Amino acid sequence: MMEKIISLCKRRGFIYPSSEIYGGVEAIWDYGPLGALLKNNIKNFWLKRFVQEKEDIVAIDGSVIMNPKVWEASGHLEDFSDPLMECKNCHSRFRADYITNSKFIGQGRAKKENQCPVCGGENFTEAQQFNLMFKTFLGPIENKAHQAYLRPETAQSMFTNFKLVLDSSRKKIPFGIAQIGKVFRNEITTGNFIFRCREFEIAEIEYFVKPGNDEKWFKNWVKEWERFFLDFGIKKKNLRRFEHPKDKLAHYSKRTVDIEYKFPWGWDELAGIANRTDYDLKRHSQFSGSDLSYYDKEEDKNYIPYVIEPTMGIGRALLAFLIDAYEEIKGGRSKTTKAVKEKEVILHFDKRLAPIKAAVLPLVKNKLSLVKKAREVYNLIKPNFISQYDEVGSIGRRYRRQDEIGTPYCLTIDFDTLKDETITIRDRDTMKQERVKIRELVNYLQEKLK
Ligand SMILES: [Zn+2]
Repeated sequence: MMEKIISLCKRRGFIYPSSEIYGGVEAIWDYGPLGALLKNNIKNFWLKRFVQEKEDIVAIDGSVIMNPKVWEASGHLEDFSDPLMECKNCHSRFRADYITNSKFIGQGRAKKENQCPVCGGENFTEAQQFNLMFKTFLGPIENKAHQAYLRPETAQSMFTNFKLVLDSSRKKIPFGIAQIGKVFRNEITTGNFIFRCREFEIAEIEYFVKPGNDEKWFKNWVKEWERFFLDFGIKKKNLRRFEHPKDKLAHYSKRTVDIEYKFPWGWDELAGIANRTDYDLKRHSQFSGSDLSYYDKEEDKNYIPYVIEPTMGIGRALLAFLIDAYEEIKGGRSKTTKAVKEKEVILHFDKRLAPIKAAVLPLVKNKLSLVKKAREVYNLIKPNFISQYDEVGSIGRRYRRQDEIGTPYCLTIDFDTLKDETITIRDRDTMKQERVKIRELVNYLQEKLK
């Protein structure tokens, strides 16, 4: 299944390995023309739902590099690490918990517990903590005093800007700050395509609440987060919640629930909701000397707000949407003899997420009048919808090309079009065809794509 998805992504321009002509970079990917469109659609609808349609949430766009003190205060310098173990035989390095929890069994040469998947060796060094933050230097001097980090999460700029956002937006608690942005983690073990990358994008909200109201808001955000995936087409049976055991919580968290998706390799984290309590604002108050408490007018007192943090990886969401939308039909859906021999692939994206909304197809390309009319139709819809013009190959083959990238509507211009100014609109999922007048086309599509 994953091989099929990866190959489709490359072939049709969704996702490529970064700098592939040089052999790529491990766990870093580029989004091609269709992938970039799909990703932007996910981000735009996320912003629409959680910022535009909410009165109590504002969005910021923070920097990747922050004052290094931020990471001292946040606890990342101390605690943002994974245990690392090295195989004494082949010197490959692994996450220690992956070795001891048998996560590698069945992979490579690991047949049983505590075995190296590369060489099958059973002797490892003691586990050592390895910090996952990428280091860099500010300015021309490369020493410890000038060391900085690429952010491993977007949350911190929402904490450091808490007061500025509060004052400039005149929000009252409860309110949230949202952000979509690039983050960097120097993962020891990578893999499963874009699932575990070293550079990726996340969408996060820090929702500030009165202490004592945090548990209620936590439950609320778990529901809202789950609903986002369901509303954009993920099947309910492929989602579940995972409650982190108390003794395994991150250093800042009181409670964490993951929303897991049934990926082809098994249930895995798609998104999460954490109750970060007042940990971050308290620590930043201490480390910076700035008072980050909130004055509650109604209660006439100051307190440090609690923070509920719903977060999702944009790449993981994109991958889940892709996998969930993927359908392969042996022999194809049409019953013509030629198609029976082929397999057909359809991406049943939610129409709002589909990268291309409509394709304009003249029935044949060797009739000038048809091509001219098709170009007119293309020019008409182009400013309103991301669309494609395609005249190459048989009409059946062109339908299939569009099904494979999830285009909801194919518009065919045929000889009747020249007589009555109507075209055929074919629906990707039902394959039903409808005749629509050209002058009603834009309204028709607008209505359908809502
Ligand atoms: Zn080994």
